[in-house]
Order: sequence, then C-alpha cells, then structure tokens
Amino acid sequence: MVQVSQNEKDLRAKDEQYVWHGMKPYSPDATMVATKAKGAWITDEQGNRYLDAMAGLWCVNTGYGRDELALAAYEQLKELAYFPLTQSHVPAIKLAEKLNEMLGDDYVIFFSNSGSEANETAFKIVRQYHQQKGEHSRYKFISRYRGYHGNSMGALAATGQAQRKYKYEPLAPGFIHVAPPDSYRGQDDYDAPKEQLQSVKDIDNVMTWELSETIAAVIMEPIITGGGILLPPQNYMKGVKETCEKHGALLIADEVICGFGRTGEAFGFMNYDVKPDIITMAKGITSAYLPLSATAVKKEIYEAFKDSDQYEYFRHVNTFGGSPAACALALKNLEIMERENLFDRSKQLGAYVLSELTPLIDSHPYVGDVRGKGLLIGIELVADKQTKEPLDVNLVNEVVAKCKSKGVIIGKNGATVAGYNNVLTLSPPLNIEESDIELLLATITYALDSIK
Ligand code: PMP
Repeated sequence: MVQVSQNEKDLRAKDEQYVWHGMKPYSPDATMVATKAKGAWITDEQGNRYLDAMAGLWCVNTGYGRDELALAAYEQLKELAYFPLTQSHVPAIKLAEKLNEMLGDDYVIFFSNSGSEANETAFKIVRQYHQQKGEHSRYKFISRYRGYHGNSMGALAATGQAQRKYKYEPLAPGFIHVAPPDSYRGQDDYDAPKEQLQSVKDIDNVMTWELSETIAAVIMEPIITGGGILLPPQNYMKGVKETCEKHGALLIADEVICGFGRTGEAFGFMNYDVKPDIITMAKGITSAYLPLSATAVKKEIYEAFKDSDQYEYFRHVNTFGGSPAACALALKNLEIMERENLFDRSKQLGAYVLSELTPLIDSHPYVGDVRGKGLLIGIELVADKQTKEPLDVNLVNEVVAKCKSKGVIIGKNGATVAGYNNVLTLSPPLNIEESDIELLLATITYALDSIK
C-alpha cells in the first residue's frame, strides 16, 4: 500500500497554497507530487512508484526518461535556442518533411505549442481559405457532442462537453454539434453502408438545414477519446468526408490523442481509409517532453494563400511554436517510434488487453462495455446493463482509487451524461513492458472485484 510521508504532506499543503490546478482531483488524496519517471513508471517525492497507464494526459507515447530525447533538445538548445518561424530553421524543415512522409506527402505544416492552438490555427486557416476562394458565407464548424478539442474560446466552442463550457460562455460563435457514433449507446447500425449510417445522415441533414454554403468544416477525432473511447463504424469517417465534399466543406481530423501510434497506426484516420484536409496533432509528437503541436494542411489549401498580396496572407503567428529544440526532440521521438516499432506494439498489446478485459462484460455486474483500438481502451461502467444507466460516480472513483492504492494510475472519462465520467480509460506509454500489462490487468480486475 502507498504511504504518505510528512514531507509529501507538507509539499501538498504548499501546492494547495501556491499552485492553481485546472481540474479537481476525484479526492484530495489523488494528488501526488511526482519527482522522476522512467519507462511507464513514475516515482513520487517519497519514493513510491506508480505504473502510469494513462501516459500522463495520453501523451508520453515513447515513455519517460529517455536520455536520447533530453540530449536532442540539449544539443539543439546549445546550437540555436530560438529563431522565429516567421522565417525558418533546420529542425522545423526536417520535422515538417518527416511528418509529410508519415502523412503521405500532401501536406504543409504550421507549428504551434498545444493541441488547442493547433485547432485554433486550423479554424483560422479554414475560414480564411473559404474567403480566399470567394466563398464568404462559409464560417460554420460542425463537431460532435462528447468530443474535446481544447481549452481556448474557439477550441472549447468546438468541444461537445457542456459541463466544461457553460461557465465561460459565450464562446466563439459558429460551432454546431451533432451526436457521435457510439457502439454501445448510439443509433448506428455498425454494418450499414456509409450512406445509411445514422450519424453520417445527421451531419448531411445539419449541413442542408444550416445551408450548405455556410458550412466551413467538420472537426472530429477519428476515435473520441476523452468523451469515452467512442469507436465509429468502420466507414463512418469516409462517409463524413464524402458528406463534406458534397457540401463544399473541409474535414479536420483532431489527432491530438489518436496520433503517433495511440490507435496502432501512425494516425487515427489511417484506420479508416480516408484523407482529411487538415490534421491537427500535439501530445505524442514530442511524447510531451517539450510543448509542440502542428496543423498539417493539404497543399491545395495552402496554395490558395500562396500568391496572396500582403493583406491576404495567413496573418497568424506565435512566438514559441515550432521552437528548434522541440522540433529536434520530436524528430528523435519519431525515430524512436520507428526503431522500436511502437505503432505495431500498440496494435498488438492493445488487442491483447481487449481480449483479456472483454470477458468482464459477462462476468462483472457493472462492466457494460469494453472497447478500444491499439493502446486506447475504455471500460464503460453501468449500474444496470438493461437501462445502461451510468454507474454511481462514487463507485467509479473507488475503482480508480483502488488502482492507485496498488500503484497503478488509470483514467476516468466519458462525458456520457453531461459531466458524467463512467468510462475507465487506459492509454499507457506504447513501450510499456508485457509484465506491466499483466500487472495492469490484474490490478483492474482486483479494483473492479472490490465494488461488486
Ligand atoms: N484535442 C484533443 C482531442 C485533446 O484530447 C486535447 C487535450 N487533451 C486537445 C485537443 C487540446 O490539447 P492541449 O491540452 O495541448 O491544448
């Protein structure tokens, strides 16, 4: 069992006094003060070790404590610590080239610092793109309920989780939400052809009712992550892309979590045989060792800006985005992913975890569903398997706390009902050891057994 030392108690008291945290932990004891980490393991101030089955906030894809990554940043900081990307530098050029190779060679990359910024950048590019093409009425974005796209006024407007938004409204105008596919609770027949998927029809209808020529783009995560690991029907994303084309709108894939091997492919959209017009990415791009994000934009969109006169270029700049050290580190991070075959590892380990957890649907009274792709897995807890009423939040918290008491950190997400998180989530570093996967499975089983 994990102990709390006097020193850690003192640190927590100071933390309470001086540091403002954005989210409230499920209990005061859930806070810990981390001091170091290696692989998938975090050590706290008093030496307790925790298996981090969430990779931080779904982001430390290549695992903690890589000297190579620290060195890549160190060498670059010595060589050229800063140069604005209003001009250019070698690590940014190399990274953009590398991302293009991963994406399939059709994209131009705009660098920023966070997932929220990558999405804001995408929104501005989309709106200006339509202006450049003379389509002045296209300004509306369609996104999905339960999806999360960031904390800023535009990215939060795109977000479909009311509880995160209502204290800050009015947010940026022009965002419309539709229901996402949900294999457990939703309307879709997952075997239907794409034209007959209810969730695709919903988007088509909304575009028609809103007036096609006012729709700028759809933004979607290939798999909704923080909203409860919602896997779409196999041809849903293709259906959405075709619907966008029918109405003259663009498709933005938010790959902030799904990217960089999380779902077993380089990018989440690659599971669904579709090419988005714009792809936003962050988190796994540096495995969170340094802040960096990117907005990849199809060349033909970029071309619409290229020959603009001085008042029509893309008037968007940020000081830190694409810093030399972050780009150099990202390149090394992508090299590690390739060298260690981490995308395949994610696919294989994820399939194993799913196969081990799926029997809980029959054997455990509260496990309603187990779903995922790669090392992105959700366990939906319900009070009643007939009505699918979400499990009491205190019991959900108890499972998370029981895992933590055994030294394993798992997540709790979902937004199934506004603000209600009844989906346990797993998103470990992609290089997690097989033996740690066994520990994770045993701990989850123990924690779930304890609330039976
Ligand atoms: N999009 C998605 C899908 C995310 O999960 C997040 C963050 N969890 C963001 C965007 C925003 O990223 P950031 O916190 O880096 O701004």
